[in-house]
Parts: sequence; C-alpha cells; structure tokens
Amino acid sequence: MIHLNANDLALTHSLAKLKAASGSHSPSIATLRETLPALKIKIDACFLSNPYATDLFMQELESKLIAQGGLRDALEFYPSQNAAIAQKLAKYLHIDSSHIFIGNGAIEVIQAVLHNFVRTNLVVPIPTFSSYYEFVRDGVEVLLYKLPKEQNYALDIEAYTKFIQDHNAKNALIINPNNPDGGYIPYDTLRECLARLRHLESVIIDESFLHFGYEDSSLEQISYTKLVEEFSNVVLIKSMSKDFGVAGLRAGYGVMAKNRVEALLHNGYLWNVNGLSEFFFSLFGDDEFLQKYERVRKSYITQTQEFFKALGQIDSIKTYPSKANFALVELLNGAKAQDLCIKLLSSYGIYTRSCSDKIGLEGEFLRIASRSEQENTQILQSLQEIFTGDF
Ligand SMILES: *Cc1c(COP(=O)(O)O)cnc(C)c1O
Repeated sequence: MIHLNANDLALTHSLAKLKAASGSHSPSIATLRETLPALKIKIDACFLSNPYATDLFMQELESKLIAQGGLRDALEFYPSQNAAIAQKLAKYLHIDSSHIFIGNGAIEVIQAVLHNFVRTNLVVPIPTFSSYYEFVRDGVEVLLYKLPKEQNYALDIEAYTKFIQDHNAKNALIINPNNPDGGYIPYDTLRECLARLRHLESVIIDESFLHFGYEDSSLEQISYTKLVEEFSNVVLIKSMSKDFGVAGLRAGYGVMAKNRVEALLHNGYLWNVNGLSEFFFSLFGDDEFLQKYERVRKSYITQTQEFFKALGQIDSIKTYPSKANFALVELLNGAKAQDLCIKLLSSYGIYTRSCSDKIGLEGEFLRIASRSEQENTQILQSLQEIFTGDF
C-alpha cells in the first residue's frame, strides 16, 4: 500500500485544483512550476515525447537558424501560408501537397476536421484522447465503443466494424497506436478495416504515435499516405509534438482528399503556422536531418521497449503491451493510481499521468512515458522502492 504523509496530502489537494482547471488534460510543466515552486520536477514522464529528438531539433535550430542569423526573420516577418508549408512536407510524405493541411498542432487539425466533415455521428473507441469526443460540433452524436479490458484494450476489427454497422454510423475514429494504452493495429489489419469502412463519410486515423510503432525488427518508419490515395474517405491526423519532441512549437498536419484541404483553406487557416514551426517543417527537405532523426527514432524505440519489459517485471503492477512511447500501468495490489502519482512526484520528482479521469478504463491506471535511458532507470528504481519498501 502507499501511505501519504501531510506533505503528500497537501500536494494532492493542490494538484487536484490545477487539474480541475485544465479539463481532460494535465496541467503544463510551466503551470506546475509557477503554482508549486517548491515542487522539483526532475523527470516529466507525463508528457509523451522523444527527448533525443528534442536534442536533435535544438542542434538544428542552433546551427541552421540562430547561427545563420535567421531567428530575427522567423520572428519579425510573416510566415509562409498554409499551402506553401504543405509543400515542404510533400516529398517526405510521398504525396502531392494539395492533400496536406498544416495545423497549429494536431489539435487544430482535429478541431477543423470534426467541425467541417463530421456532421451526424462519430464512433470513438474508448479509452481515448478526449478531444475526439469533446470537440465535435453541437448536435453530433458520439457513439462510444468500449475496447475490451480482457483483450488488453486491443481493437478487434471484426467487432469494431460490426458496431459501426449496427449503429449505422457515418464516421469513425482509429488512433494507432492508441493513447492511453499504446495498442497497435498492424498495417494489413488496418487496411482490411478501411476496406470494410469505405462506405463511411470519414474514417479518421490519428497516427500521432506511429513513429514509435513498428512492423518488424527493422523498425522501419510506417507510412499511411497510400491509404489516403486508396480510400478517399480517410483522413490522417498527425502531431509532431510527440515523435519530434516539440510540443511548444505547435506543429501538426492532416492528409486527406484534395477537396477537403481546399474546403478548409477556403475560409481560414492562412498563417496558422508560426515562423519557428516553418523552420521545423523546412527540415523535412533536409536529408541529413532525416537520417539523423531516423537514428534517434530507432534507438529510442529499442530503449523504450526495454523499459516496458523491465516495467513488466515489477510485482503488483500490470504493464499493458504498447507500441507507443508510453505504457499503461495497472495497479493490482489495491493501491490508488492517484496516490502512486503523488508519491512519485513528491518523493522522486517524477511526474506521471493518473488515468482516473479517462473514460473506458476500469481499475487503477497510470500512464508512464518513456524518457531517456537514464531517466527510465530512475523511474524503474523508484517504482521498485515504492512497491517493495514500506511507504
Ligand atoms: C497529443 C495528441 C494530439 C495533440 O497533439 P498536438 O500536435 O500537440 O496538438 C493529438 N492526438 C493524439 C492521439 C495525441 O496524443
């Protein structure tokens, strides 16, 4: 069991207040630092990013923008328009830029797609990233499809397509790998699912964690662009925040039918991408950057999977299979997820995400992100100490 002392209880109270103010999402590190200055966060295992990719981006920013005197231009002048930034991604994505819509973070793409193309109903598998059911337009019916706990929350396409048919649904969502469990649908299975759903108005595929997924030991990057060409109702949504470790930039994109991109750009989103994000997107035309990124991506996947294996060996918790860069961890010994979060934070400076507010999860769950190798070791040691020591 986890025993909380007076300090821990005070922290529980302060965090609950901050959390209530940030809705379904966690308070940002900046908010935590401002509000609770005494709290020393050493490891942020709540935010789901590849720290090595952030290091890489910092080097690029320094050598290719700041050292070249480009920072002032990036801040002083207007950035390029949406369609011009889309061109920077076209070669990397192997699709014409007319299919690409750039967003101020994936969250803006989600909102744009939901508000413009989802008019009647939307099937959302749960547990999920809450914006998909929170941001639909008023009057749109959200049909929640419960992923089965006894199958580790894996999405079974037979059951999913049947649910969609039974409810006469017009739009459906698939997040692959899924957040918060990291469950992964292999490419061929996903394609088969889309073939069965080609009569729908839209199938939204959120691939924000796809760079952490893999089909085999080569760990090659998986691309869904071809699926948009094959199935005109498919809308891909991708955040750059997690795999490139640049959430502060606010960069994301969508890949979809041309007429949909035209419809979105027809009355908005002209300069929604700032100068620093434009620099970031320009790196996708830089083969040397892409090669370096591939190296940090693959080594991070390897370290992450080792981290999950070690987590799986800790008694009193269950680690769900994940091909994302975070693991869903269930507490089996009667401890409360919230208490474990507080203990990790107050005694070890490790910030994790309690999933008590996630709909579709039954039990005590925590989501723990994979960080650097050294930080992962500290997370493992702390958990071991909590579960074997007497706290
Ligand atoms: C974090 C997240 C997003 C939002 O990403 P931003 O680009 O930072 O707006 C979208 N979808 C999923 C599944 C996410 O986890």
